[in-house]
Amino acid sequence: MNTNSENDIKSNKQYNPQMHSAEHILNQTMVRMFNCGRSFSNHIEKKKSKCDYNFDRNLTEEEIQLINNKVNEVIQQDLIVQEEFYTKNEAQEKFNLSRLPDDAGDKVRVIKIGDYDACPCSGLHVTHTKEIGSFKIISTDFKDEVLRIRFKLINE
Ligand SMILES: [Zn+2]
Repeated sequence: MNTNSENDIKSNKQYNPQMHSAEHILNQTMVRMFNCGRSFSNHIEKKKSKCDYNFDRNLTEEEIQLINNKVNEVIQQDLIVQEEFYTKNEAQEKFNLSRLPDDAGDKVRVIKIGDYDACPCSGLHVTHTKEIGSFKIISTDFKDEVLRIRFKLINE
């Protein structure tokens, strides 16, 4: 399964597994810190990326720093990124599958980042989190109940 979507991803030159893997960690960090959902919309590119969250306000400078610190702490643990397959029924009990395409088939691919994050995903990822580099939020803004976080990665 997912051969088509992987080819689509590979043909997109802007797609960046480091950025996309950072997105997984950022999402889990947001869920843990604020009890919000994972980003409902995002734009992932090599130079900079953005993730949108259903939220009720903008973040403070202190919170931005806490998020940067937490995401980088996870990256520095050099956690192993692995895929696991679940049947759709198993996956439904554990994960929110609302963002999964309807034609995804009966096997659901879940990407696990150590014990930190697990999320159904058909994208391309790093194999160890240290490959991501250093994570930094560029800016945030809040409008119409949507918090937008823009971030970049700094390598060496
Ligand atoms: Zn992914």
